Amino acid sequence: MKEIRSPQQISKEILRWQQKGKKVGFVPTMGALHQGHLALVQAARKENDIVVVSIFVNPTQFGPREDFSKYPRPEALDRALLRHAKVDYLFSPSVSGMYPQGFAAEVEITDHELTDRLCGKLRPGHFKGVATVVAKLFNSIHPDAVYFGAKDYQQSVIVEKMIQDLNFGISFRRMPTVRERDGLAMSSRNRYLSPAERKQAGQFPRILFWLKEQLQLSRKSMQPLCRQALSALRRAVDRVDYLEVVDPVSLQPLRNRQAKMVIIAACYVGKTRLIDNVIMHFKKTRS
Ligand code: AMP
Repeated sequence: MKEIRSPQQISKEILRWQQKGKKVGFVPTMGALHQGHLALVQAARKENDIVVVSIFVNPTQFGPREDFSKYPRPEALDRALLRHAKVDYLFSPSVSGMYPQGFAAEVEITDHELTDRLCGKLRPGHFKGVATVVAKLFNSIHPDAVYFGAKDYQQSVIVEKMIQDLNFGISFRRMPTVRERDGLAMSSRNRYLSPAERKQAGQFPRILFWLKEQLQLSRKSMQPLCRQALSALRRAVDRVDYLEVVDPVSLQPLRNRQAKMVIIAACYVGKTRLIDNVIMHFKKTRS
């Protein structure tokens, strides 16, 4: 595995492979890698000749009171995991390499229904930071295919939209959420949880999957079921940011069942913010 820090150098290296007809798959991450990230790497490995992973804790997507400075950075372990996963390139730019002095361009998704709801409502500017850094990474690497996790569902919808609307010409792959044995979605932030909080956090996915089952099997209409799930989540965790059933493309809240839906939620256990979602494909629709 070759480690590269300069955006110019990674561009040159990747272009050389593409001129030889090789397909390049790219997995952007913020490091503190776990099996969720490695599943994206595996998919990229299977579908491409060259695999690039980036590790960059992007300051512009963190709010002023968020965990940018304490975000975990286990660099040696991450490197070993990527080497073991047969990654060809680790791109790990510095903050000043990505945002040199005077940097003044941003990418904004102007459909605020996508960016200002759910996580965007509570994290103003977050998705502008994400879209900008992802666009910069794409422009440095020019991958043929990119791999994102369904775990960050709203982010994945926004990136997919940006690829389409700005003609990046990259194939977008959304991969399923990888979970711990008790169902908790793997996340770099899970390591903040104390043992007691970790146990408590296991209830979060259980409630989402309960709602999925009820939406499939119960004859009750959607709204009382959602209210029931919301009160259960409020009892189980320390704070609920949101729990909604939304359309998978527009992210608009749904009042009635439809063929494809996403149950999406964010909450706090102690000081740790957790997000999760369950994607549902219904065969039969009921109100
Ligand atoms: P992050 O390092 O948290 O920015 O995540 C980098 C990529 O890994 C994003 O596309 C995430 O959606 C994805 N990812 C994070 N956790 C998981 C998970 N548990 N399962 C699948 N993908 C994940």
